[in-house]
Amino acid sequence: MIKYTALKKEDKEVYAAIEKEAARQADELEMIASENYVSPAVLEAMGSVLTNKYSEGYPAHRYYGGNQVIDEVETIAIERAKKLFNAEHVNVQPLSGSPANAAIYFAFLKPGNKVLGLRLDHGGHLSHGHPVNFSGLLYNFVQYGVDDKTGYIDMKAVREIALREKPKMIVAGFSAYSREIDWQEFKNIADEIGAYTFADIAHIAGLVAAGIVGNPVPIFDVVSTTTHKTLRGPRGAIIMCKEKYAKQIDRAVFPGMQGGPHDHITAAKAVAFGEALRPEFKEYAKQVVANAKFLAAEFIKRGYRVVSGGTDNHLLVVDMTSKNITGRDAEEVLNKIGISVNRSTIPNDPNPPLKPSGVRFGTPALTTRGMKEKEISLIAELIDRAIMNKEDETKLAELKTEVKKLCKKFPLPTAK
Ligand SMILES: *Cc1c(COP(=O)(O)O)cnc(C)c1O
Repeated sequence: MIKYTALKKEDKEVYAAIEKEAARQADELEMIASENYVSPAVLEAMGSVLTNKYSEGYPAHRYYGGNQVIDEVETIAIERAKKLFNAEHVNVQPLSGSPANAAIYFAFLKPGNKVLGLRLDHGGHLSHGHPVNFSGLLYNFVQYGVDDKTGYIDMKAVREIALREKPKMIVAGFSAYSREIDWQEFKNIADEIGAYTFADIAHIAGLVAAGIVGNPVPIFDVVSTTTHKTLRGPRGAIIMCKEKYAKQIDRAVFPGMQGGPHDHITAAKAVAFGEALRPEFKEYAKQVVANAKFLAAEFIKRGYRVVSGGTDNHLLVVDMTSKNITGRDAEEVLNKIGISVNRSTIPNDPNPPLKPSGVRFGTPALTTRGMKEKEISLIAELIDRAIMNKEDETKLAELKTEVKKLCKKFPLPTAK
């Protein structure tokens, strides 16, 4: 149990807010696919004195003195990440997923260059060329989508668009896509037109590390991932690339995009990578996917339409209009019973982005608490009862009590 002794004494206001959030996390079911719970060891590294240090540069090449220990920490993080993902070169300094992607574009492209990425409303990410994001403003993004009928990425269409548009880079990687990605096929297409290959595995990194889904690192030129999603580390990111791009990636991160690295976060990344290298993590990742597959089947059994008919990873997108409710209203109803999810567009959504048809469900956080198929089945039942009784406040209050009861049986890693 984390005590926050000094904080409690020195700043009652912030202490009270943190305690409230800790209670919320403990008493609610977290089904946002991009969230997870870190271990006490990761949390301790994040709260360490390493936050006091400035260390612009890289191990053995710093612009400040006193970095002997920081060099050791950063090297441990790099070596563990290399082993985890079978990478030739790793930069562990990116502050988060979006800045990591910005550094990658900066390393390989000039403003105005053409890039091919997945449409946001088909499961892509803002940093893959959305018009309001820097990526869409600085670069000329053209986009591919998923097949109307199957919900799978249409690789034939990807190839056609690539050959027609001749982008300088092809981006593969997603925030709301539940199927395996054919990395080799993306690479083959890119090779036909001499394009760079960039995989963004922010969501699936933990599953990749555990060997449950395919690993693009040995195939692609460059790969980014956040460290705080399925990988279960601190909020941050890393970039992996072939040795021949090491210099240009490192230069793009610093001094190109960032100043001093967050050394306390680097330490926490090292701890998380160490955890992910253990056999228990493989078991965890396996259960994450088993739980997601089971959840998809539970929804289908109850008449919900699941985009693409199921999942191969940790997430699924459910078309809530199959139960006469929008994704936004479903998000609100589930919030009332203590289940956190986020609304999501479905491919070719007839509803507007702020009121989309879908909800994205993920199992990484539930699985970290130790939940398995038995609990997933109960959760699907609670979700369905909430949706069916969406206007019955008494029923919803009862369901909230049931959610809390389940949560009590599965304490968070940091509460033990
Ligand atoms: C989450 C995510 C990011 C962005 O990560 P932040 O840390 O929120 O900036 C980038 N790409 C993909 C595919 C993601 O899912």
